[in-house]
Amino acid sequence: MAFKLPKLPYDYKDLQPHLDGRTMKIHHTKHHQGYTNKLNAAIEGTPMAKLSIEKLLANHAKDNAGVRNSGGGFYNHNLFWKVMTPGGSEFPAKSKLGKAIIAKWGSLEEFQKEFSSAAGTRFGSGWAWLCVKRKGLHICSTPNQDNPLMNVESNGCGGTPILGLDVWEHAYYLKYQNKRGDYVSAFFNVVNWKEVSKRFNAAMK
Ligand code: MN
Repeated sequence: MAFKLPKLPYDYKDLQPHLDGRTMKIHHTKHHQGYTNKLNAAIEGTPMAKLSIEKLLANHAKDNAGVRNSGGGFYNHNLFWKVMTPGGSEFPAKSKLGKAIIAKWGSLEEFQKEFSSAAGTRFGSGWAWLCVKRKGLHICSTPNQDNPLMNVESNGCGGTPILGLDVWEHAYYLKYQNKRGDYVSAFFNVVNWKEVSKRFNAAMK
């Protein structure tokens, strides 16, 4: 079964004014579609075609550039669309995730500061992540389309990513140009904490 570009759970313009509709449409229909097509081409007719995307990344990203770049791009964007929601959602301070964030960083603001720093200091293209590893929360970043599931030297904190932010210029340049920091700040207005919580609870099992 070939991988398929997922539908967005909202319209392209629904994350405005934080993320503009034109960027969202190009990002989904051109970039994400491109990663999906290239991933399928990389695994077609090989035993890899039977694997889940998680298994592909964990076992084959290291030795297969197509899986690493296009499989990473496919997985990362799948996660990215889902951890955003129109208007954002209230930070669930009393949930297991909320308590774990407060326990580690002291406050939501301090957490956002470290996450923003990971996003802002990633040189060139890449991603910032919040991950669960060994039952603990960690912030890190990866270059290109690498992610913490991959068995590669750049995999950052490792473990299971539960929140990810795309800091490739294609994610923000039309609206924010060189001002990546403004884009990162805007992202926090659309975070879908319900989805992040769900992923946290699953990763802690
Ligand atoms: Mn992207």
